[in-house]
Amino acid sequence: MNPVGFFLVAATTLVPAYQLFSLSNVPDQIALFSQYLGLAALILMAWGQILAARPPGIEPVFGGLDRIYVVHKWAGIVAMGSLLLHDTIDAEMRGLGRETALNELAETLGEISLYGLLILVVISVATFIPYHLWKWTHKAMGALFAAGTFHFFFIMKPFAMSDPAGLYTGSFCLAGLAAYAWTLLPDHLRPFHPYKVSKLEETGGALAITLAPDGTGLKPDPGQFGILRFAGAGKDEPHPFSFSGIGPNGTLRVTVKALGDFTASLAKTLDVGQEVRVQGPFGRFRPSGNGRQVWIAGGIGITPFLAWAEALDPHAGHVHLCYCVRSCADAPHLAEIQEHAKAKPNLSLHMIASAEGSRLSAEALAEIVGAELSQSEVVFCGPVSLRRALQGGLRRYGVTPRRFHFEEFEFRTGVGLKRLAERVLKSTSTETRHGS
Ligand SMILES: Cc1cc2nc3c(=O)[nH]c(=O)nc-3n(C[C@H](O)[C@H](O)[C@H](O)COP(=O)(O)OP(=O)(O)OC[C@H]3O[C@@H](n4cnc5c(N)ncnc54)[C@H](O)[C@@H]3O)c2cc1C
Repeated sequence: MNPVGFFLVAATTLVPAYQLFSLSNVPDQIALFSQYLGLAALILMAWGQILAARPPGIEPVFGGLDRIYVVHKWAGIVAMGSLLLHDTIDAEMRGLGRETALNELAETLGEISLYGLLILVVISVATFIPYHLWKWTHKAMGALFAAGTFHFFFIMKPFAMSDPAGLYTGSFCLAGLAAYAWTLLPDHLRPFHPYKVSKLEETGGALAITLAPDGTGLKPDPGQFGILRFAGAGKDEPHPFSFSGIGPNGTLRVTVKALGDFTASLAKTLDVGQEVRVQGPFGRFRPSGNGRQVWIAGGIGITPFLAWAEALDPHAGHVHLCYCVRSCADAPHLAEIQEHAKAKPNLSLHMIASAEGSRLSAEALAEIVGAELSQSEVVFCGPVSLRRALQGGLRRYGVTPRRFHFEEFEFRTGVGLKRLAERVLKSTSTETRHGS
């Protein structure tokens, strides 16, 4: 994560504090604080919409699209907390004049927006809800944000919309609404690159899809991903996939593992010649320098490393690639990665197959890599549970969080409720065992 993006979002929410508390004619400071919370919540919600629209040039500020979605999620959660406080602490002020019907409507819309958002934020951190249903509830948040904006514009307040506080927060609201309108546009009206499926191949239980450009193609860097829409493949919904191959002739390849209903249906519905719309390229997952590196791929997490291995300079520092799979038969593109390891003297491949009794842990990695581990950059792509276990264990071997890099292979990351529930259940069952 690039902290600049995070600080930028945080700093923009502090500006109205200065604007409000420098108002000289407001004696009720508690109500003013409540008003500030409302403004901060609106700014955070506007950021949520702006980030979801993926404006060009924003990725470097946050460190990649995957990290943008993490900031987007937390902006929404903090906004919800601020809104609840804004509702609890009385924001009403005396002496602002008589309320009109418009002011009353603004008040009602504020309430609707608050309770609607409360329900939707709870739904949006519930990662067990099927993605295609979840996505619609998430989109509805924009409509509630619009209701919140109306509330802000027309509610009675101790400053005018032409004052700095009104202009500043109002501009954020309008930018957020414009971003929301952009996300609602039909996909064919937004920029995309047309491709056609030129080859389909089964590999280690996954489907490798080669795409040939049908116009101007993309020029992704190894490790980047695209958001793909397979027209006519049953469900016409966009899904992110890393480019597992970047051909010199403009072809791209993605390798898809069946992890849910859409990815499972692809193998049955896709055909050579079919149209694919690709948005991107996105992501800032790239090797950190040319020094010693350890790449760890968990299952289908191999995809970005395939493109890295292809592009690896044989004169760069040594790379240990640990490929964790259930069995070698379930390892997508194994032959291809073995070829790269044979051709490049600085690439060592280590297969870790759980069905054969091997598991990757920090200790096992230290044994594979040896003393150079503490001087290596470790890069990970795979299941979150494996990543967390390694991140914790590797600190003992001198791999600090700054030297542990990873790609979020999941945009919808939750807030750790599942982990919390697991911990509680574990500690309760331990206590019960000790008690009995
Ligand atoms: C940056 C990135 C790169 C990825 N690269 C690859 C890859 O190279 N190969 C590969 O097999 N998988 C990759 N994935 C994962 C892949 O996008 C999901 O497995 C796929 O979208 C699941 O869709 P589903 O409907 O089949 O599964 P579901 O069971 O519906 O979803 C499984 C999980 O995937 C996520 N998901 C589902 N639909 C979408 C969507 N439209 N957009 C975003 N997330 C969604 C949800 O969080 C859900 O919990 C990548 C994901 C990301 C974020």
